[in-house]
Parts: sequence; structure tokens; C-alpha cells
Amino acid sequence: MSRVTTPSTAELRTLADLDHAATTRIRPEVREAMAPFLDDRYGNPSGSHRLARDAVRAVDEARERVAAALGCAPGEVVFTSGGTESDNHAISGGMPPRAGVPVCSAVEHHAVLDTVAALDGRVVAVDRSGRVDLSALADALTEIGPHTSVVSVMLANNETGVVQDLDAVAQVVRSHEPEVPRVPLHTDAVQAAAWLDLGTAAAAADLISVSGHKLGGPKGVGVLVVRQHTPIRAMVLGGGQERGRRSGTSNVAGIVGMAAALEATVAGRATTNARVGALRDRLADGLLAAVPGAVECAVDQGDRSGLVPGICHLCIEGVDAETLLFLLESEGVVASAASSCSSGAQQASHVLAAMGVSESLARGSLRLSLGWDSTDADVDTALRAVPAAVRRVREFG
Ligand code: PLP
Repeated sequence: MSRVTTPSTAELRTLADLDHAATTRIRPEVREAMAPFLDDRYGNPSGSHRLARDAVRAVDEARERVAAALGCAPGEVVFTSGGTESDNHAISGGMPPRAGVPVCSAVEHHAVLDTVAALDGRVVAVDRSGRVDLSALADALTEIGPHTSVVSVMLANNETGVVQDLDAVAQVVRSHEPEVPRVPLHTDAVQAAAWLDLGTAAAAADLISVSGHKLGGPKGVGVLVVRQHTPIRAMVLGGGQERGRRSGTSNVAGIVGMAAALEATVAGRATTNARVGALRDRLADGLLAAVPGAVECAVDQGDRSGLVPGICHLCIEGVDAETLLFLLESEGVVASAASSCSSGAQQASHVLAAMGVSESLARGSLRLSLGWDSTDADVDTALRAVPAAVRRVREFG
């Protein structure tokens, strides 16, 4: 039997949540939009009676709203169970896997990286800022040639917040045609969708992964945008839902919630980005000033314009991140060292290793991530707690 006690809601509410890149609180308008579909409007859209028709209408309408928010056509939206499934589907190309060699950058989320590894694909290096090395990508494409099956480069990194120039990546990929016949370009936009207009930032991609719970929507729902004429088969087979591209009874409430979350995100984006960006800068600047040995590995000369606004990533020399996180939590601050993983255990960051950050510095990696509901008080709490916790780790470590 588990010995872990369940914290009370009141206790949870006191936490300064600086782990929004892991997940976010559901927006009130999303909860409201979902509620009827958890109640009377519980139909299965695969049927033909009135309950089912109601669900069909809800999913169709949500598809149109999602498409408008993502800057694609409704027919290009495939609802999935989340970012991981979207990534797996994009890389494998469905069932059986696409023939050929998938290529991705070295800083991808494991949902991409592990799928590429399972298919004996190729991983391309990044530079010190964490952006894909375009000449290394060009060399890989020249070498693999017509056997290349897909190229995957994430839009925003989940650990550092670094945004990739997808147009430049696409230019390299397309410049290899016709030796590399038109190969699909995939982008994992799971961390980008809250902050960037995908209609422009991901315009060059043929396949785009998005997840609901990173932007104030529910968990367990996502989208794979599949542009017209992109070769891809279904990965989940069965009832032929999503026009045969993803079987399984539609998660109607989740899909409606995803649409509401994306719409709210887009409507508030300019204001939220400015507000959260200012909070992030105050946090990062404050910690750099107060914590000796803290550096922003992904930031060159204080210029954070190449990052999404929600992520403050620091490496702190001579500090073990796990101990630091433990002390921070005891002070009411929840954060993360690198990305979150299922066991909660911290693993060495493959992202920092790929950027050439030394192992000893990477051991002190701290990701403080903000989201749509982050407040000045969260930042104040972190500005008090982090320097004090670092001092304690150094005193007793
Ligand atoms: N890709 C990135 C960049 C992520 O940050 C995450 C989640 O942390 C995922 C994919 C997986 O998304 P999901 O949790 O919806 O499966």
C-alpha cells in the first residue's frame, strides 16, 4: 500500500507553481465548456441517434475552432490522446512504420527521440544555444538521401524554452529535393502552442503535434495536424474515427475542452505573453543577481528574445538539483530540474548534454516555468526561496 499521503486542496492552493511546462490548471472557460459533455451530452459520435448527432456536432464545431486557432484547415486536424501519441504517429508514419530513416534533433522530447531510436533513425546535433545545427542536418540528409522518411525538429524546447527557426530547417530539407524526395517535416509544438502563433511559426511543417494540458486544457487530448497530401497511415486501428486516421471513441469532452483552451490562448496571447514574459524576466534577473554561480545556458548576453516567455532555465554551479527541488518544495515552491518524467526521478538532461553543458553544471539544472495563471506572488516566493535554498545546499552539501 502506498504510504504517500494525499495533500489537501487547501495545501495545494498555497504552492507557488513554477512547473507550468509540466502541466497547467484548466482554465475556467474550458471547464465550463466541457461540463455538459460530462453530463447530459454524453453521446458517442459514432452512432446515428440524437445523442450521437449532438456529439458529432460538438466534435465538428471543435475541429473548426481548433483549426482556426492553429492556422490550418479543419480536415487537417486529427484528435489524439495528447502530445506523445501525436509525436509517435508523426515519426512512425502509422502502422506498419514508414520505410526509411527518421531524422530528429538531439534536443527533442523523448516522445520523438525514443520513437526515432526505435526505428533506427538519425539524431542531428545542436549548437551551444540548443538550435539544430543546419549544416549537420544538411550532411545527414545528403548521407541518408532518398531513404529519409521524416525530419522532426521541435518548435520550442520543454527544458530551455529555446525556439527553433523552422523556416530555416524547412529550407535545408527542401534544398535536398529531388535527391531527398519531398519528405514530411514534423514539429513538436507541444511547448510552443501556448506562446506562438502556429499559423506562422509552424507554417513550414507538414505535421504538427499539440497537447491540451499545456495551455489550460484537459490532459489526455491532443492534435496532430496533418497537412493535405502528407503521407501517413493510421497508427491506432479500429472503428475508423477521425476519417480513418485515428480510431477510438472520440474524447468528446476533451476535444471540446481543447478547442476552448486554444481559443482562450489565442485570444489572450498578446497580453499573456507580455505579462508572463515580464514575470519571467524579473525572476531570471533576480535569481542571476542573487545566486552566485547561476547561468542561463540557453541565453546569449541576456537576450531572451529567442525563448518562449514562460521558461526560466538556470544551471547553478555546485548544486545538486534534486536536493534543491526538495528544499524548494518544503518552502512551497514546486519546479523541475529538467523535463518531468513518469517516475519523477531526475535523469541527466540530454538537452543540456547536446548543448555542450558540462555534466557538473547540468547537475544543477533548474527549470522554473510560468503559465497563463502565474502571478507576481509566485515570482516573489521563488525569488525568496531559491537563493535561500541554494545557500543551504551549499552549506550542507
Ligand atoms: N513534447 C513536448 C515538448 C513536451 O513537453 C511534452 C510533455 O511534457 C510532450 C511532448 C508530451 O505531451 P503529452 O504529455 O500530452 O503526452
